[in-house]
Amino acid sequence: MRRKTFLTSVAALAGTPAAARALGESQPPADVIVTGATIHTVDDAFPAPQAFSVRDGRFAYVGTLDGALALRGPKTHVLDLRGKTVLPGLIDAHQHLTSVGLDLSEVDVFKVRSPEELVARAAAFARISPDPWILGDGWDQNLWPVKAFPTHDALSAAIPDRPVALSRVDGHAVLANAKAMEIAGITKATSDPPGGRIVRDADGNPTGVFVDNAQDLIYDKVPEPTHDQLVRAVRKAVAECNRFGLTAVAEPGTDDTRLAAQIELMQRGEFTLRNYAMLWDEADLIDRHLRSGPIEAAHGGHLWVRTIKMFADGALGSRGAALLAPYSDDPGNTGLVVTPQTHMEDVTERALRAGFQVCVHAIGDRGNRMVLDAYEAALRAVPTHDHRLRTEHAQVLSPQDIPRFARLGVIPSMQTTHQISDMPWAQARLGPQRVLGAYAWRSLRNTGVIIANGTDAPVESVSTLRTFHAAIARQNERNEPPGGWYPDQRMTREEALKSMTIWAAHANFQERVLGSIAPGKYADFVVMDRDWMTAPAQAIMETKIEGTYVGGRIAYDGRPVALQHRPRRRSGCCTRATRRF
Ligand SMILES: [Zn+2]
Repeated sequence: MRRKTFLTSVAALAGTPAAARALGESQPPADVIVTGATIHTVDDAFPAPQAFSVRDGRFAYVGTLDGALALRGPKTHVLDLRGKTVLPGLIDAHQHLTSVGLDLSEVDVFKVRSPEELVARAAAFARISPDPWILGDGWDQNLWPVKAFPTHDALSAAIPDRPVALSRVDGHAVLANAKAMEIAGITKATSDPPGGRIVRDADGNPTGVFVDNAQDLIYDKVPEPTHDQLVRAVRKAVAECNRFGLTAVAEPGTDDTRLAAQIELMQRGEFTLRNYAMLWDEADLIDRHLRSGPIEAAHGGHLWVRTIKMFADGALGSRGAALLAPYSDDPGNTGLVVTPQTHMEDVTERALRAGFQVCVHAIGDRGNRMVLDAYEAALRAVPTHDHRLRTEHAQVLSPQDIPRFARLGVIPSMQTTHQISDMPWAQARLGPQRVLGAYAWRSLRNTGVIIANGTDAPVESVSTLRTFHAAIARQNERNEPPGGWYPDQRMTREEALKSMTIWAAHANFQERVLGSIAPGKYADFVVMDRDWMTAPAQAIMETKIEGTYVGGRIAYDGRPVALQHRPRRRSGCCTRATRRF
């Protein structure tokens, strides 16, 4: 097919200078030529090019306008971008893609103004959702005329045949309908579980609201999503990524069931994204993959599997992050270690021997030290030149551990938006001294390490605008606080862009094929209405993504979309969130 296209185009162009040049270099014509844009390649070998061309899904040429147009054939699409800006396709180095999709498959009842509206929204959603359970999130009775918990009656009447579970905005209560309660075996006789409460009427009958640990009585009955549910969910998540200029993500924690749904979409050509998937730390799963070996650029360059994801500790918001000294606002509590260090060492050694990478979630300074210690021991046992072991979040670091990343070659994989989300309470948890080692991007960069940037969506928004803005401003979307929160730790614009492109690609062992605009790499790029290298920081959040291209093909055309993800961030306090992420 490719050969035929080549012959046709040469015949049509015979005698023209372009054809002569193309023939002279025996180069088939380009599929796409991009001109007229400010192009940031993120590759010093190709600074400020005038144009580039794409062929067979890869960048073919990057440089002058004449050089790019030399590859023009009769079927070449020339894209004159008239002053827009082009960046390499953006990479989210830590995004729970499947969970984003599952969130997008739930009914959003955020900001409903009455219990009637809550029921109406759920019922309308149930009419279009093929899923066996209707799940939703976001109601808050404090916004209603009568500020009392809702009861299940109207919901059960509106949706009698399918179970419904609608979470309160803070994740501390759920409203279930009669069908859900029937499935869960809830009756008047059901007693409150430890740490939970079943709300009851005057006669002792459950009203449908389950508080704190009592929520598990309902949520434990929600089945794992089916293959078809996963396929539908991932399709939505991919669209959400493309909408923000993302062309690749690293998904921390998945298994073969979840991957099967993505592979189906890849085979159908609907997966306009590249996934660097990390495996859950489950014995059978990792045994199988360590035996069969790393998967690189499979299914047409859409899937990588060569990493194991573990957890060292919990989250800072819920005081689960493991700290070296007690929480400043909770004396006596030093957080939780969730995986023994010996297990981390063991898995890391096995991974290194099999050519796999390890990424461990670590938030607190104690959690981070444990991971560095485990990595150091594993590297002593299995000396590995190019291991790229990663710490996910690296959120609170003891000053003496900061230089260890560079020394050991460990990559901090951080989420700049966690800083803006956490800043209202981070200092209360940590105190004025310890907070200096939190979200310490500059301190880390000063030691020579690269930082891979990401969002941790669905905990945060998928928005790349927010990620970039937080990195350069350390301010929230309303540009608060003035001057930024501990602004000395900001990234430069160049660093922020690299953290979302080539450094993320490096952290994913993908820098040879992704992360910059250079000949031979996958032709992933994003078109935007302003230049992030020069636009005022306050204008970054208004950026309009006008086009996202994956392998040279348009994946998002800039038009507004109806389905948008709303982050459900609960400071790590939600049991559902803990289970899923
Ligand atoms: Zn995460």
